[in-house]
Amino acid sequence: MPKLLEVNALKKHFPLKAGLFGGTTGYVYAVDGVTFSVDCGETLSIVGESGCGKSTVGKAILRLIEPTDGEVFLDGVRIDNLPLSKLRPLRRRVQVVFQDPFSSLNPRQRVGDCIAEPIVNFGLAKNAGELQDRVIALMDKVRLPRDAIRRFPHEFSGGQRQRIGIARALAPGSDLIICDEAVSALDVSVKAQIVNLLSDLQDELGLALLFISHDLAIVEHLTHRVAVMYLGKIVEITDRRTLFAGSHHPYTRALLSAVPVPDPTAIRQRIILRGDVPSPINPPNGCRFHTRCPYVFDRCRVEEPLLRSVGSGHQSACHLEHAPDVDVIPKAA
Ligand code: SF4
Repeated sequence: MPKLLEVNALKKHFPLKAGLFGGTTGYVYAVDGVTFSVDCGETLSIVGESGCGKSTVGKAILRLIEPTDGEVFLDGVRIDNLPLSKLRPLRRRVQVVFQDPFSSLNPRQRVGDCIAEPIVNFGLAKNAGELQDRVIALMDKVRLPRDAIRRFPHEFSGGQRQRIGIARALAPGSDLIICDEAVSALDVSVKAQIVNLLSDLQDELGLALLFISHDLAIVEHLTHRVAVMYLGKIVEITDRRTLFAGSHHPYTRALLSAVPVPDPTAIRQRIILRGDVPSPINPPNGCRFHTRCPYVFDRCRVEEPLLRSVGSGHQSACHLEHAPDVDVIPKAA
């Protein structure tokens, strides 16, 4: 499959200012050299705890914040250094759905106008009739009732508001949608409905999704591949099946240990990580995970592990030769 999005060694370091003259006293290393790609029609999930830098990656791709370093290519065109005037036509192809649909929708705009806005902005409808037809088609696609067109966002539940956000993201004919914790604020059953909707839309429209989430249980049902982030870096990247059945990195193992096992006769051994996530202002030397890793050894404290191949299409940034023991055990054991 052709690569739609390529991200090479992306960095975002936020300067820390202090003193009378606002001099830079240090940096928050929010994203520190992240490389991945998304194919046409593919879902790549970026997962990790709060503060690991995953949302910053999404914002840097969208140029909502300017990257510090690295390269971003959309369909072979480098977009991270493109002047904003030249970036605009490409923006049509990459849209975003945020966690809180209410704050990203204009409360004074009717739902129909809200969905129509990107179509108007990019000049994609020849006349008012075509615009209305496109808005109704999008509402049908995301399974919103047609009478929603004249109503306001506050009249809808969280799940329906997220459908409005998805319709708006689809409106300019996008190829890639960045879903930034798009289902995190929803109830479990509504979460599942939105995930199913995204999956159906992907099948129907050949969309690519960059799905940013802290919840591995949700991405299991949607994703083709998963990149796990810790303190600004990707520590493991592989396909969904391999990640859930044979992950390599101890941090991924710990995240997975919190995911419920569907088999009621088995339990997963919970791995409780010690301590808090270190500050991205002063990340640990060596392996950034070494202060919390149950398998830490001397080398980890001094030498940073680079992403290396540990299987077909499977990379892990860990000095361990082999993955730790499988952690799902039968209940009777
Ligand atoms: Fe743990 Fe060492 Fe692997 Fe880091 S490199 S994850 S500290 S075993």
